[in-house]
Amino acid sequence: MKVTVEDSCIACGACESICDAVFSIDDKAVVNEAAVAGNEDAVKEAADACPVSAIVVE
Ligand code: SF4
Repeated sequence: MKVTVEDSCIACGACESICDAVFSIDDKAVVNEAAVAGNEDAVKEAADACPVSAIVVE
């Protein structure tokens, strides 16, 4: 699974709240790719919760 965050991110923090192993907030959300494996369900939940649909899961 590949996870990226688009520039439309507004740094709201929702993804970090759902899965802080994978997402952390700087100017925008940053993905810790090493933590994606094993957290796929939470990553999908965060992608669904993102208010601007900035999380792309491939
Ligand atoms: S939930 Fe979406 S808008 Fe909010 S910090 Fe995460 S990627 Fe950015």
